[in-house]
Amino acid sequence: MKVGIVGAGVAGLAAARRLAKEGFEPTVFEASSHPGGRCETLHIDDWVFDTGATSAAPRGGSLEEVIQADVEAGRAMRITLPVYVHDGSRITPGSDEKSRIPRYAWRDGIDQMAESLADGIDLRYNHLVGSLSASSSSVSIDGEDYDRLILTQPLPAAAELLDSLGETRSVRGVQFRPTISVMFGFEQAFAGPFHALIDPTQVHPLTWLCIESLKCPGSRTPAGGTAIVAQMNRRYSRRRYADADELILRETLVDVHRLLGRELGEPKVTAVRRWKHAMADLSSDFEKANPVDSKIILAGDGVSGPRVELAYESGIRAAERLLV
Ligand SMILES: Cc1cc2nc3c(=O)[nH]c(=O)nc-3n(C[C@H](O)[C@H](O)[C@H](O)COP(=O)(O)OP(=O)(O)OC[C@H]3O[C@@H](n4cnc5c(N)ncnc54)[C@H](O)[C@@H]3O)c2cc1C
Repeated sequence: MKVGIVGAGVAGLAAARRLAKEGFEPTVFEASSHPGGRCETLHIDDWVFDTGATSAAPRGGSLEEVIQADVEAGRAMRITLPVYVHDGSRITPGSDEKSRIPRYAWRDGIDQMAESLADGIDLRYNHLVGSLSASSSSVSIDGEDYDRLILTQPLPAAAELLDSLGETRSVRGVQFRPTISVMFGFEQAFAGPFHALIDPTQVHPLTWLCIESLKCPGSRTPAGGTAIVAQMNRRYSRRRYADADELILRETLVDVHRLLGRELGEPKVTAVRRWKHAMADLSSDFEKANPVDSKIILAGDGVSGPRVELAYESGIRAAERLLV
């Protein structure tokens, strides 16, 4: 059986690995030049920022095995500091229950997890799949025939590809929100009893603030520096999506200073990353999205839930559909 997979995020890579384990040789088409998708890392000089997913919490799922191998190899580590809560000006401890969930980060960036997953897979980078064609026995990508396809790009984009074949699935209610991530590298040190702050109400523009240099001490900044990734809430991200980086950086820096103190000074490096399809507000159900005997299987977080380990699990599930 010849299998094609669209997307080399964790879902696509999980599917490819599961199939490879059974002796198949799937081909993965990836639009960008690297694996990982929303598990992305940005390096600016000696600063290292995870611009999408901050960490992975396997919660006993299939991703656990992959993470433990990376921990043993020294690439990944369990995050020791907890997540605290903020309301824009006050910082208080978060829930004990949530803090007990083991979360892992990769010293040189979460894209290292994707590199581990991609090892040994037939990957075609810089290959944007723009349309599909189908016959009664196969589906083809750019003239190459496959018996089965697994689509793992964010669900609205996968649904568009299916539309091009005249196939509709019950995924219409799934909506992804945009998110703007803002990166700051400061030369001054910041120490705190937490590695990240969350606004559980999602009212404050700064919905999640990760201190990368406290998440992975010693590997995210030049000596003594502080690396921060601010993820903006839905309202702010929608409102400012098309605005200039300078404006977003200026407004976000005011919020960061208010929370962490003006002693941090002016940032030495900055960046803004816009995620058009950041996370599903409401995911579809894998079984509903994939009728039995579908030649094209939809996987990824749009059919599982907006988390790394759930996206990974959906890839495994898609592969196992083809193995029965
Ligand atoms: C800002 C942000 C913060 C997050 N924080 C966390 C967190 O802390 N913890 C957590 O568990 N989860 C987090 N998430 C969610 C998590 O990142 C995702 O749920 C997960 O990575 C989704 O994986 P995926 O494989 O389903 O999709 P993706 O990672 O989006 O992979 C899809 C891949 O398909 C490729 N692609 C798209 N269209 C095409 C095409 N036409 N042809 C070829 N290739 C294509 C893309 O380039 C991409 O590589 C966060 C997400 C964002 C954006």
